Amino acid sequence: MFVAELKFGIIADTSYPVAEQAIRNYLEALIFNGQILGREFPTYLQQDCFISRVILPETAALASHHHSTVGQRALMALGDAGLAFPKLTILGQDLMSNHTDPCQSPSALFLYCRFGLMNSVLYCAEHFAPVPLYRFSPTSGEDHQALIRWQLQFQALDEIQMQEQRVLQKTAENSLQQLHSSLNRQGRKFAAKIAKQQQVPVYFALYSGSSAHCATEVDKCCPGCGQDWRLKEPLHQMFDFQCKHCNLVSNIAWQCQ
Ligand SMILES: [Zn+2]
Ligand SMILES: [Zn+2]
Repeated sequence: MFVAELKFGIIADTSYPVAEQAIRNYLEALIFNGQILGREFPTYLQQDCFISRVILPETAALASHHHSTVGQRALMALGDAGLAFPKLTILGQDLMSNHTDPCQSPSALFLYCRFGLMNSVLYCAEHFAPVPLYRFSPTSGEDHQALIRWQLQFQALDEIQMQEQRVLQKTAENSLQQLHSSLNRQGRKFAAKIAKQQQVPVYFALYSGSSAHCATEVDKCCPGCGQDWRLKEPLHQMFDFQCKHCNLVSNIAWQCQ
């Protein structure tokens, strides 16, 4: 991932609230198409321009053809707010985030999510590296907002269940690790839509944190079809189980490892 600056030159009479709102709308459209990552975008005024600092999955992330229709509209609206089209400066590689997948078109994908990972939830199955969302058609609507909002909910629950003093005892963990929770049903729907669209398998990564039966955890069956799904070798030192029938991967519960 790359740290970059977007410079919005002031080219006509404007006011702070009008300019701020136009920039906010544009950045939001970029977020919901996976073109910028994270939630916080420090933006400041510098004499004749506004500057926002952003994280990009790759240097070409803001190329015009990667914009959603929402993004194109927000880009055009900058002019009405007295701002020029943004100028991009790549500042360098982000040391705190992972690398985007090098493949042109991965032959299989994982839909994988954990708290703290702001990158795309779609990973190349070969490299276990995130694939930017703007490379895919939206699963609904004009951009990837629905999938990113799902990711935010997953991460919020994951963050809660990682705390020692949880405010939601089992609720958060159950949502994450039960195949038929509302969260995972939605997640698997996204995976199925992407699979159909891309014509490649998309494996939903089912989280497994705790188990009431650690002795038999390694022999557990696929929660979808009840078949044996244990892999001889774990994938990416992460997934011990894979079901090609149900398009699922999972791990031996962390508590039992
Ligand atoms: Zn790859
Ligand atoms: Zn299965």
